[in-house]
Amino acid sequence: MGKHRFRKYSIKRTCTKKLSPYNKYQEDLRKDFHDRCGYCDMQGEMLTQMFQIDHFVPRKAFEKIDISLRDDYDNLVWACPKCNLAKGSKYKGDIEKNRLDNEMFYDPAKVDLNEIFYRNEFGIICSDDDKGREIIKILKLYRPSVQYAWMIERIVSVTEYLCNMVEGIDDEDKKQKLNAEITRLKAQYMDVERKFKALYRMKISLEGVSI
Ligand SMILES: [Zn+2]
Repeated sequence: MGKHRFRKYSIKRTCTKKLSPYNKYQEDLRKDFHDRCGYCDMQGEMLTQMFQIDHFVPRKAFEKIDISLRDDYDNLVWACPKCNLAKGSKYKGDIEKNRLDNEMFYDPAKVDLNEIFYRNEFGIICSDDDKGREIIKILKLYRPSVQYAWMIERIVSVTEYLCNMVEGIDDEDKKQKLNAEITRLKAQYMDVERKFKALYRMKISLEGVSI
């Protein structure tokens, strides 16, 4: 079974501004997170819904102890609505000892999640790490929409690669074969995109459907 990298981009918090309230960091977060959900790697432009700002150490855990965590850029994660909802106020740790840690999760801007997660050949997020497996369950990273989003990006990049390749080929037979493959990929793209849109809008349930 083929293994793929979980994500292509590495996330680093580069913003050094001090802003309040935290939603003023929206554009900085979008940039630092490459407009991707810090947890499931979904691309912002794939959704019609706006991404949200997650508090890595949740409000419920810090509000009575250290309110500065509300506007602390290092405590903010750019997240898709589904991951943000699934994460909610789940927390384990000791703010007084390590104010920015939430032991239930990995901070996606501090830990290289490619060391924790990978994708199987269908784009499903997997992990050989115990905490990683727990995170997949808690955040429901097994959602088919996450898998389809990955497949769409992959189909686009393979199609682009083949289109560039076909331009430099003189052999008509080879050209024809490549064009047939490009046509097949374009049809697959339409199919996966339709499934993704249907799933993300929750119009139909495709639980357990294999593609
Ligand atoms: Zn997400």
